Amino acid sequence: MRFLLSVLFVCGLCVSVWADTTVSRFVFFEKTQYPLEVYVLEGKEAGPTILVQGGIQGDELSGFMTAELLASAQVKKGRIILVPRANVPSIHLRRRQVNVDMNRRFDRRYGQFYEDIVALAVRRLLQKCNGFIHLHEGSGFYSPVYVNQSKNPKRYGQSVIIDAEKYQNLQLGEMCRRVLKRFNPSVQPQAYAFSLFNTRTIENNSQYLEQRKSLSYYALTQLKIPAVAIEVSKAIGDLNWKVRQQLGLTLAFLQEMGVEAQCEIGDKLQKWSLVPDLQVNGKKVKESCSLQLGTELIVELGEKRGGACYAVFASDRPGYDLLKDSRYLLQPFRSLDIYADGKKIHSCSVSWQKAKTENGKKGDIAYKLNGKTLFAAPGKVVKVQSGDRLVLEGVVGGKKNEVLNVKGYVANPPGVYNGGQDMGVEIVLSRDMFLPRYVKKNGDNWAFGVERETSGIQVRPVTFEVQELHSPVFVLSGEQERILLYTPRQGEIEIPVGEYRFGGGWAGKAGEVHCFFNGRLLKKDEKISFSENKKNVLQLVDKNTFFVFSDIVFIPIGLFL
Ligand SMILES: [Zn+2]
Repeated sequence: MRFLLSVLFVCGLCVSVWADTTVSRFVFFEKTQYPLEVYVLEGKEAGPTILVQGGIQGDELSGFMTAELLASAQVKKGRIILVPRANVPSIHLRRRQVNVDMNRRFDRRYGQFYEDIVALAVRRLLQKCNGFIHLHEGSGFYSPVYVNQSKNPKRYGQSVIIDAEKYQNLQLGEMCRRVLKRFNPSVQPQAYAFSLFNTRTIENNSQYLEQRKSLSYYALTQLKIPAVAIEVSKAIGDLNWKVRQQLGLTLAFLQEMGVEAQCEIGDKLQKWSLVPDLQVNGKKVKESCSLQLGTELIVELGEKRGGACYAVFASDRPGYDLLKDSRYLLQPFRSLDIYADGKKIHSCSVSWQKAKTENGKKGDIAYKLNGKTLFAAPGKVVKVQSGDRLVLEGVVGGKKNEVLNVKGYVANPPGVYNGGQDMGVEIVLSRDMFLPRYVKKNGDNWAFGVERETSGIQVRPVTFEVQELHSPVFVLSGEQERILLYTPRQGEIEIPVGEYRFGGGWAGKAGEVHCFFNGRLLKKDEKISFSENKKNVLQLVDKNTFFVFSDIVFIPIGLFL
């Protein structure tokens, strides 16, 4: 407690300085089911940049709650890049993983599941950081010697995990012992004080070699920056207590790494999952609502009143967040349910009216492409583009238990039998996500079939032909608002030195691409300048799949005449 009190006391004296934190927020994969929200908190005094991340495993509540609270921190010195919830779909289901354990996807570049796409983005965020703090919640209590079932070397709770005592010139163990020596005296009861847990992942005889696939190990060995994981215990019931401890220890580690920050919790934890207003097709509803088949369903929530991450699921599609996309109604379901961090907090029962006019023809497959409802008759060929978001809604005039199978795509985690059902899940079109033997190649483009596998039905499949995108464009405006539009087929562009305004980047009809300029994400209308003798690299990256289209090298040219 001594340590925390002194921090608060010092901060109380310099409120005006602390209040100068610059906060910016952006979201990767914004329209998908796996949004990645990122905050950058920057103090007035220059200092190191530290990445703090929570929520990589959805059943570890303290981790993402602590990280979410940290978004309101005041930073005096240095910079925090904050990812409160790395794995939103797993939080919505309150499960460790949906397809694969995201924290075992950092040893190489994977591309099969959404977890892999998110991992690519997180890895990129880490590139320019000087340290990494990962927030977790582990089982039982770690102890270097066996004490009992819940307290032994196989448990993770109430520990700080490192992969090596030291690595090159990084003295990780020493750093952690310093922090724990300062922090631990404040932990009450003392039985819950944090232990240092060196998994010795770096050594070939380590018992924890699978942690070589973790983000901490990547940070330490590839980027050569200090990385720690702070684990509170799932065996401690008082969530409020755990979050406060984890936050305090995170601030202590930030300070050790050179970032001065403070964070007031206030009554935020008490108000964490207050029920927001539910709006269905623009109207506020409470316990019940009425929906009509053959129409669009648009679900929104009123003002977010707590720190929780909210979602609304239809009872027949658990895990599919309707706040991210509208739904075309073909079959009735029981209720619309509001979830806060994976816990159901409100249910609205639904009564049904028949369709007035049918859209599409009987037997058509209804699907959503980038949020728009479309219909395709059996045998039809539909042209789409890589990175598009596809959701199969159902069959017009169909039976009760229709099965639509996207050939080559597995919507369920490995080992879970799904009977081929791919209806009601978001499929981001990326060839890496499809089993090669089901994909028909045609030059650079590829195609897959959607088969109606409902028993007793035999119709031709609908074929989706996916066009691979090669030539995204971006816009730069020069001094006289002269617009320079580039289609970067070539790897190098000569550009006159000077200042430019970035107007955005696009690929295909689905929309924007991310543009990274020398590794930094560009915002629309941001100014960038090219000076002589400086190499600049612009990277265009697909917004949904994080596929890198091209590296464009700018060669600034001065006036030679
Ligand atoms: Zn964990």
